[in-house]
Amino acid sequence: MTERRPLIAGNWKMNGLRADARRLAVEIGTLRQFKPDAAFDLLVCPPFTVLEAVSQMIENTGVYLGAQTCHVAEKGAHTGDISAAMVADSGCSHVILGHSERRTNHAETNDQVNAQAKAAHEQSLIAIICVGETEAERESGKALEVVAEQVKASVPDDSSYGNTVIAYEPVWAIGTGKVATPDDVQEVHANIRKVLAEKLGQEEADGIRILYGGSMKPENAKELLALGDVDGGLIGGASLKAEDFWAIAQSC
Ligand code: PEP
Repeated sequence: MTERRPLIAGNWKMNGLRADARRLAVEIGTLRQFKPDAAFDLLVCPPFTVLEAVSQMIENTGVYLGAQTCHVAEKGAHTGDISAAMVADSGCSHVILGHSERRTNHAETNDQVNAQAKAAHEQSLIAIICVGETEAERESGKALEVVAEQVKASVPDDSSYGNTVIAYEPVWAIGTGKVATPDDVQEVHANIRKVLAEKLGQEEADGIRILYGGSMKPENAKELLALGDVDGGLIGGASLKAEDFWAIAQSC
């Protein structure tokens, strides 16, 4: 079976002026250099405006760089948008797609996320495709079904373990301090892998990393990261402090 190397990804969201971003990137890069052979991958996803600055700060540290979304088109009349080619050209290896804040605030649909992921793959970027149910959907017992539907529709057919990561982020757990129980997380992750196997075949499904996201912190990371189908974390708030981000990574 393909080894799934844990991925610890920081989603900085709309945080970081250049000086702060540089400082945080240097701190994370320095911590990484203490342990270059650690058994996890480390990724930071800052805002577009500081990608270049952060890229310089993490050069040769082994920390990967990612963006937080991309447009489906390669270029053209799309004021304010950024293409996958531009993301790759900024030094990124990864791009987060379909985060619930994009799905809610920018009405991004599964079809759009699917097209974005294809565009990302064409630029040799690793797409981190986010899925997750709302609180109402969980309370009405529909979490598995909703997430399965999102995976089926958002993950393009050209996906493989080399170019795709899934992030399960229950919407109600993002930035709220509420965390899904380990049993619930494992149940959803195992079901995501089952859906991936039906869609892409068992080999790809066994190799695709599935991250958990939603109020992951140093205090709860060990328990979540120990689950059989959890292959890392997508971390928002706690990724803005180098020591917390590093402590989470150390829990792998
Ligand atoms: C996120 O936005 O991807 C996230 C998981 O945020 P937080 O860790 O702050 O809940």
